[in-house]
Amino acid sequence: MKLEAETEKTGLVGHPVAHSKSPVMMNEAFSQEGLPWIYLAFDVDSEELGQAVAGLKSLGFRGWNVTLPHKVAVMEHLDEIEESAQEIGAVNTVIQQDGRLIGTNTDGAGYLESLVRETGFDVKGRRVVILGAGGAARAVSYTLARAGAEQIRIVNRTEKKAQDLAEHLRRWTRADGISPGEASIAIREADLLVQTTSVGMHPHLEGCPVDPASLHGDLLVSDLIYRPRQTRLLREAKARGAQVHSGLGMLLYQGALAFERWTGRRAPVKRMGEVLKQSLEESG
Ligand code: NAP
Repeated sequence: MKLEAETEKTGLVGHPVAHSKSPVMMNEAFSQEGLPWIYLAFDVDSEELGQAVAGLKSLGFRGWNVTLPHKVAVMEHLDEIEESAQEIGAVNTVIQQDGRLIGTNTDGAGYLESLVRETGFDVKGRRVVILGAGGAARAVSYTLARAGAEQIRIVNRTEKKAQDLAEHLRRWTRADGISPGEASIAIREADLLVQTTSVGMHPHLEGCPVDPASLHGDLLVSDLIYRPRQTRLLREAKARGAQVHSGLGMLLYQGALAFERWTGRRAPVKRMGEVLKQSLEESG
């Protein structure tokens, strides 16, 4: 890529960001499309977030992604928050348009896009159990509720957070927060199980957030973790005849949707997926 005075700038703001696969995926997307754009990663402390946002704005960045721990805190520094981000309560993508900073959230839409494309699952009228009630759970549950899920049950270690999220979701669907002890019964009655906690993530590969005996052949099990690609939960689910879906696609499509918002062009998803997989394999 030739870096010139006219090169358009985008990036990622988080802390830490050294492990992020977004730069390799997004720069490949720009290059594949022949766009003179660049994507850089910025490690920003919480105390300096406001200054960093002001700096990116005045330096003319076209947009940037926001990752942990700034997805909520960044909102107060923006001019407009789109509905998806307002309802999820977090921003993962900023677009600079006519000098205004617009915050949106592509995590939930990226998840759904990946789910539909990779498994063909139609969420309308289906019963969903979500493990976890953090940021990823908020994004996914909101999107599934809006897409027509018939029922969403939230299971979380801290039960109060599950109940609060369920109450929020009741605007769109039947929802309740349940204790981990009630998870097995709920899973037996569900069509889709979405795992949004960090249990089972590298390097704690043997972690499994539910009793494997509750998994069954009529279930689609989706794990947001992408390192490893096949978590223990997905292996246990597959062994019991369930269909499985890994978190890699969510990472890919949330990036593809951000690319499309910034450039106004279709993202080269196939190529982005290839470099993402390659980069993760190289990381071990
Ligand atoms: P978060 O806001 O910190 O939420 C973490 C959630 O996991 C909370 O519900 C927490 O429960 C639960 N949890 C953590 N450790 C646990 C344990 N040992 N046992 C039971 N529950 C536990 O984090 P997040 O942003 O939602 O991310 C969660 C996961 O999703 C991470 O693994 C992340 O890599 C993955 N993710 C993937 C993508 C993707 O693109 N594929 C995108 C976003 C996130 P408490 O409320 O009780 O603390």
